[in-house]
Amino acid sequence: MARAPFNFAGTEIKAGTRQTVEFPVAKLYTHTPLHIPVEVVHGRREGPVLLVCAALHGDEINGVEIIRRVLRNASLRHLRGTLIAVPIVNVFGFVQRTRYLPDRRDLNRCFPGSETGSLGGRIAYLFRTQIMQNVTHIIDLHTGAIHRFNLPQIRAELKNPETARIAEAFGAPIILNASLREGTLREYADSRDIPVITFEGGEALRFDDVVISSGVRGVNRVMRALEMLPAKAGRAKPRNRSEIAATSTWVRAEIDGIMRPIVRLGQRVRKGQRLALIADPFGETETALITPYSGIIVGMNNLPLVNEGEAIYHIARFDELAEAEKAMDYFRSSMDPEAGADAVMPVHPWDEQQK
Ligand SMILES: [Zn+2]
Repeated sequence: MARAPFNFAGTEIKAGTRQTVEFPVAKLYTHTPLHIPVEVVHGRREGPVLLVCAALHGDEINGVEIIRRVLRNASLRHLRGTLIAVPIVNVFGFVQRTRYLPDRRDLNRCFPGSETGSLGGRIAYLFRTQIMQNVTHIIDLHTGAIHRFNLPQIRAELKNPETARIAEAFGAPIILNASLREGTLREYADSRDIPVITFEGGEALRFDDVVISSGVRGVNRVMRALEMLPAKAGRAKPRNRSEIAATSTWVRAEIDGIMRPIVRLGQRVRKGQRLALIADPFGETETALITPYSGIIVGMNNLPLVNEGEAIYHIARFDELAEAEKAMDYFRSSMDPEAGADAVMPVHPWDEQQK
């Protein structure tokens, strides 16, 4: 018996087909209707319903490209289950090149939202009632804020075993066991017992090929772990290993000034090590930024002009730091173009660690 069609926003998508649906979400001041573009790939066989979404923060565009590449995967013809791909959730912010909505609210703090609320609440309400309604798993793609670059990493609430399973399957080098922040899509999904992971990588308003490639691989790996895609035949390449951080902390600037970074993204640092130098324009009063912890750099501020108290380096801390360093080494070697990455990798901060 053929699988039932997938009904979405008034459109019926037959099993074994795919379709782009323009999901109406709001209107501009001009009364021009605004849509969230959604691609539904409805496989012939029953299986999980995976939602992959990006740009909930409108300026976090790496995920948009990750989804474009995921949708070009030829093996989606053999998909088991259903893939719902939403490359741009915050269409307002995307058009304006900003994280926020026009009323300066953060859409990822508006969940669960309400039918009669303000713009953010209404979009969150529509998104969860129309798009999240029947999903069984979620991957939410994010990027660091503007001038902040994140190492590819997964954030998840690992108490849910299925969440932990897909977090590991993704294969990012680092997993942060991140608590749930109120109003986020992740918190709402978790409250409904939908396994959900957040991928973080790169910087707002920038494309980064290492981040994008690792995101594409990660989504495909999760689909294989969920048996939505067939396992890769004949390839016994060792899977990326992920190391779970015990905790993470931002190290902040102790003075205002101009910063010269010393350590790089992905690098292992030891307690007491110098991370950066901050000085006045003549370099007379220079202060070293020292890390009070040992760990791996998973995020950094790359704008050299800093104020006292500003978050500069995000350090993930581990019970077994040597294991985390190994996970980083696996990641670096697996992103080598020789190893079959999607694109030629440019030189990245984490390639040129201090020798
Ligand atoms: Zn974000």
